[in-house]
Amino acid sequence: MNNKHWSIDEIVEIYNTPLLNLIYDASTVHRLHHDPNKIQVSSLISIKTGGCPEDCGYCPQAARYHTGVEGNQLLDVQQVKAQALRARSAGSSRVCLGAAWRNVKDGPEFDQVLEMVRTITQLDMEVCCTLGMLTENQAKRLEEAGLYAYNHNIDSSEEYYKEVISTRAFDDRLSTINNVRKTSITLCSGGIIGMGESLKDRAGMLKILANMNPQPESVPINALVPVEGTPLAEEKPVSIWDMVRMIATSRIVLPHTQIRLSAGRTQMSQEGQTLCFLAGANSIFAGDKLLTTPNPDSNEDHELFNLLGIKTQSPFEKHAKREPVEQTATSSALNEKPKWTRPGHVIERNIRASKKDQI
Ligand code: SF4
Repeated sequence: MNNKHWSIDEIVEIYNTPLLNLIYDASTVHRLHHDPNKIQVSSLISIKTGGCPEDCGYCPQAARYHTGVEGNQLLDVQQVKAQALRARSAGSSRVCLGAAWRNVKDGPEFDQVLEMVRTITQLDMEVCCTLGMLTENQAKRLEEAGLYAYNHNIDSSEEYYKEVISTRAFDDRLSTINNVRKTSITLCSGGIIGMGESLKDRAGMLKILANMNPQPESVPINALVPVEGTPLAEEKPVSIWDMVRMIATSRIVLPHTQIRLSAGRTQMSQEGQTLCFLAGANSIFAGDKLLTTPNPDSNEDHELFNLLGIKTQSPFEKHAKREPVEQTATSSALNEKPKWTRPGHVIERNIRASKKDQI
């Protein structure tokens, strides 16, 4: 139960605390609710890469930008199972299956994803999916397949979201999150810093997440990885000090949540990552790629864990496993036609990036 209601000003004040005090405060909260020497490791598997119709300004998978990422077909279940087994033997307790879709559509492809969820759950791994917008019925079907977590990032503050994406509405993000919350699937939702947003936007994003009731079980904090061809290609790299402040602030306002150090780890030194762990990060994504952008090698991660005496978390340590069950009559495919919004406002830099090769 979350009884505290955070304001943006309170969160900004925490973020601006002198750094050593901020790390100390965050570390104190962290030690109250988590084992500080344990990290949860997830692996991302891109089950359907590229060719996405959306215009997210940070994303090389958007078909409209010229990033060299090819659109692929959905992987088959056995390919995904093989990747999950490799991730498990490299120490991951969770796999996150990512598809570059605007929203889930009932039909053979979604049925294939449900089969992936059942198959990997039987390997005793936590399965997370990030498939875009989702109806209540589709969330129910994923729950019955045994899904452990659903990722749907809010990306930034509601105000700054409009500066990055024009093809989806922020409210639709919240509707999908609400649909996930109608099931027993845990929620993973976070965002990206380094997209040109203000401190108030960073605090605004954390305010939304921290005031959810219950709070998300997992919050990924990504540092933008600027990719050539995307509208945000020229953004400056996020400094380690901003990252540490963001992680520490997240830890204080989201005391029970797993705070995930996500994209942008390749730019961080071992010392920088250690400061993030001290400030309350207790999860990472492993594997040499995060969907399409580079990520540190698993061996480098284990070298750092050994150095720090960190142990990895076992699957289902935080929440119990659910065995897949047969779909009920009420949760079989409905072929609903959900009315997701297309705000369609103009973001000049997104338009420029989509036309670049024609200039
Ligand atoms: S972030 Fe997701 S929805 Fe947005 S363009 Fe990339 S794949 Fe598509």
